[in-house]
Amino acid sequence: MRALIVATGNAHKVTEFDRLLEGCGFELCSASVCGGMPDVVEDGDSFAANAQIKAIALRALAPPEAWVVSDDSGLEVDALEGAPGIFSARYAGQGATDRANLEKLLIELADLPPMQRSARFRCVLCLIDPHGEEHFFEGECEGCIAMEPSGTEGFGYDPVFIPAGHSESFGELGDSVKSRLSHRAAAVQKMREGLEAFEV
Ligand code: IMP
Repeated sequence: MRALIVATGNAHKVTEFDRLLEGCGFELCSASVCGGMPDVVEDGDSFAANAQIKAIALRALAPPEAWVVSDDSGLEVDALEGAPGIFSARYAGQGATDRANLEKLLIELADLPPMQRSARFRCVLCLIDPHGEEHFFEGECEGCIAMEPSGTEGFGYDPVFIPAGHSESFGELGDSVKSRLSHRAAAVQKMREGLEAFEV
């Protein structure tokens, strides 16, 4: 079976990819098969640029016949003009915890009523095939930011993100709902369709 290596050090993302890529005909591997995800400076000005930086860094360490996919993702809040966006992982400062980022977000939005808390998760995948060609796939998930965190599932901003059409956060809804609705699920679905078309 062809190997697909996920270029991330985030164990939550690997778990989500595992579920989302089930039955796709690839053996999914974490970056540990290449000695771990190398440290990279994510200084791109878009999700796509940062996804590309991560995929190229791992591609350099991967066996030549392997496929590599990276994910760059984040939260865009309309009332904050799209922030935290590409800075989602370090919204409360370099090395900030998920909890600190989430608390900063709730403070920034403290005065806003539910109607003004619209937001979306965005995800861009960069897939590098064994020929070294890059393919990009993007997914979004619309929703809004809760007044306070709830639930213990998922990671990052999941406890405060309520997907459109629901009244509970991803933190409460859990993996099976998230893997149907999320930005990552949407991007992976496009990638799966792309993978079926590639003959390598
Ligand atoms: P990245 O690992 O550099 O792409 O940073 C992504 C950051 O965006 C994470 O640290 C989270 O804060 C946030 N994020 C991305 N995807 C999700 C998700 O599915 N749930 C919750 N937070 C997410």
